[in-house]
Amino acid sequence: MKLAILSRNGKLYSTRRLVEAARARGHSARVLDPLRCYMRIAEGQFEMHYKGREIDGYHAVIPRVGASITRYGTAVVRQFELMGTFTPNGSDAILRARDKLRCHQMLAADGIGMPVTVFGDNPDDTQDLLSMLGPPPHVIKLNEGTQGAGVLLAEKLSASRGVIEALRGLYADFLVQEFIAEAKGADLRCFVVGGRVIAAMRRQAPKGDFRSNLHRGGIARPVRPSEAEQEVAARAAEVVGLGVAGVDLIRSARGPLVLEVNASPGLEGIEQATGVDVAGAIVEYIEARVREGG
Ligand code: ADP
Repeated sequence: MKLAILSRNGKLYSTRRLVEAARARGHSARVLDPLRCYMRIAEGQFEMHYKGREIDGYHAVIPRVGASITRYGTAVVRQFELMGTFTPNGSDAILRARDKLRCHQMLAADGIGMPVTVFGDNPDDTQDLLSMLGPPPHVIKLNEGTQGAGVLLAEKLSASRGVIEALRGLYADFLVQEFIAEAKGADLRCFVVGGRVIAAMRRQAPKGDFRSNLHRGGIARPVRPSEAEQEVAARAAEVVGLGVAGVDLIRSARGPLVLEVNASPGLEGIEQATGVDVAGAIVEYIEARVREGG
């Protein structure tokens, strides 16, 4: 197979591991910076060039498109799709995953468990919006936040109101959720490839925090998710339409709740915590799909 990995940085762990895994299985693999891919679009004709040369004959492309370049990056992925290249994560699926409100609505419509979530636009509605959610504590999340940076806990109603007012003043987009205290600062990252959880880790928040992100000092351990957890994770990836996804779950008294479906999940944390060859699993899934004809 001729494989492209769309990534801004060939030195990143995830990118390197995908190249390694592809080459180890006898494939050619090349890292392409999505911002250096340029395209020609005409009726029924789709062409792409990279640094002066035509990009052609790729069997598959693995998008590792960061949130900051979602628009251009997904246009490149779409161009590959239109040129007949297989991708485990299509451009539309990546866009769905990046839009948190849309993602929550789609998951809920499918009956997938999640923390009760509210969002609104007008400051005049804040009081009623919070009464729709129920009593505090509340978790307030910035829509563009990643790695737990835009996630905070308000223990009192007055704190929720204050934070929301401040965020509105900054024109920030956010949503508010019920706080799942039973999760005790832990979440599960389920790595889904081709509809199956192939690796999972439990991340525990450092003392005094409720956010378990590894970037915030969370500690990861391998975990075997229950059948129900595996099913929810696989279903969430399927609803969003992702062949490769990192699905974050928390354990609650009413079962597993999905927090997030990530379209470009990092490989370093999960491979190190579990010892699973996640990059190899991704390449093997792509091999099988390309063999079947996409
Ligand atoms: P990010 O996308 O920035 O990682 P998340 O929604 O995954 O944000 O939240 C970060 C962490 O905060 C989660 O991994 C989890 O540990 C904790 N968390 C998030 N939402 C809730 C909630 N509703 N109740 C309890 N803990 C939560």
